[in-house]
Amino acid sequence: MTKQKYIVVGAGPVGSLAALYAANRGHEVEIYELRSDLRDPSTTPLNFTKSINLALSERGINAMRHAGSKTLLDHVMNSVIPMSGRMIHGKRPSGELYEESQTYDVHGRDIFAADRAELNKTLLDILEEMPNVKFYFNHKLTGADFKRRVAWFEVRNSDKSSPGRAKEVEVSFDFMMGADGAHSSVRYHLMKYVRMDYQQEYIDTLWCEFQINPNTKRHNTHSALERFAISPNHLHIWPGKQFMFIAIPSEDGSFTCTLFMPSANYAALEADSSKLPSFFDQHFPGVTSLIPPKELIASFETNPHLPLISIKCAPYHSGSAVVILGDAAHAMVPFYGQGMNAGLEDVRTLFSLLDKHEATAESNDPSDPAPLDPSLQRRAALAEYSAVRAPDAHAINDLALQNYVEMRASVLSPAYRLRKALEEW
Ligand code: FAD
Repeated sequence: MTKQKYIVVGAGPVGSLAALYAANRGHEVEIYELRSDLRDPSTTPLNFTKSINLALSERGINAMRHAGSKTLLDHVMNSVIPMSGRMIHGKRPSGELYEESQTYDVHGRDIFAADRAELNKTLLDILEEMPNVKFYFNHKLTGADFKRRVAWFEVRNSDKSSPGRAKEVEVSFDFMMGADGAHSSVRYHLMKYVRMDYQQEYIDTLWCEFQINPNTKRHNTHSALERFAISPNHLHIWPGKQFMFIAIPSEDGSFTCTLFMPSANYAALEADSSKLPSFFDQHFPGVTSLIPPKELIASFETNPHLPLISIKCAPYHSGSAVVILGDAAHAMVPFYGQGMNAGLEDVRTLFSLLDKHEATAESNDPSDPAPLDPSLQRRAALAEYSAVRAPDAHAINDLALQNYVEMRASVLSPAYRLRKALEEW
């Protein structure tokens, strides 16, 4: 196999996994990341107040399983919490609160609550040990020429106490993998080289993060389960028809919670946040006994109210020089719990095609001593990647949009119950 210089833009979960796949194939790998090192405690996780918990499922797990690392999956799976289903919270007409468990899988398989930052840090730790991997933090991609295979990065001064002028560096490469998120700079430059179809949609829903603290009243007991105020093995949903509140367990006994709601409702509550506890009592019964009203208001006032974007585009590559992966290629709304999982799966799919085309080229004429041109195989692999991956990613984007209705409303409907009963029958 001819070794090449692969550069990865973005050291999020998808970029880091792509770097690992490339490094395990012996390539010289350089990772360029806009922010400082996530493992540095002063780095605030992107868009999140602290690290958020995500639903990790088979799609993502399988991609890590095939990364060629003996430790990655063990490390990640050691600190996840299995979630066997969703727990629907509601109030009966009599005023009584209820919880209803709805299992995800008739065969009893779970999805897992995983700490996004821990998963990302594990990948960075593994990469750091590899001699053919170099990190460039505080490097922001500002330009790229995919014909000459050069890219430009603004080197940001991480020392806030002595701000100076940012400088620019030029980097040459054989292959660029753009995993720089929903507002991808790689995608922006790629659009100048290919006839890319592009569609982006902001849905009229904002999200804000809250926290259910560990169950301190019972914290001194020895049972791990008792650290949790509500069941740790569920993804909790308070459906509100037009909006919803969810909670995902964390290892320390807390829950990362998210309020999804139309912007007009946010605006009304922003105007008078003292109404928040009664709003919750009306729509998300029981939450104010898990999050005291003062904390509820403080989180609402302090934490950002962020938009949700859905992006579809195609193709994902240009020639043999560049490909985009993860949110850069298909940012999706989070209601199907598949954004990161699908991004990790992109990496597995991409490298299986790169391997396949390399193997085909090598077996064509084993007696020919002329070195194979790796860019020809990669060109064919990338064309196949865009062709097979874009329709799949578009389908997951659509399912994610549809699942918002399912989560906030259909889980309550008699039709839903009937369908589930028939499925299980
Ligand atoms: P990102 O995580 O966005 O990483 C991109 C990286 O690129 C960042 O580190 C950024 O700093 C860097 N970067 C950006 N621009 C540049 C530049 N110009 N130069 C260099 N570096 C750059 N997914 C799931 O699978 N399950 C879930 O349960 C789930 N829940 C979610 C809940 C919420 C509320 C949200 C908002 C998302 C959720 N997701 C979930 C989606 C998931 O967070 C994303 O799909 C995932 O983080 C995408 O990973 P990525 O590596 O592609 O991009």
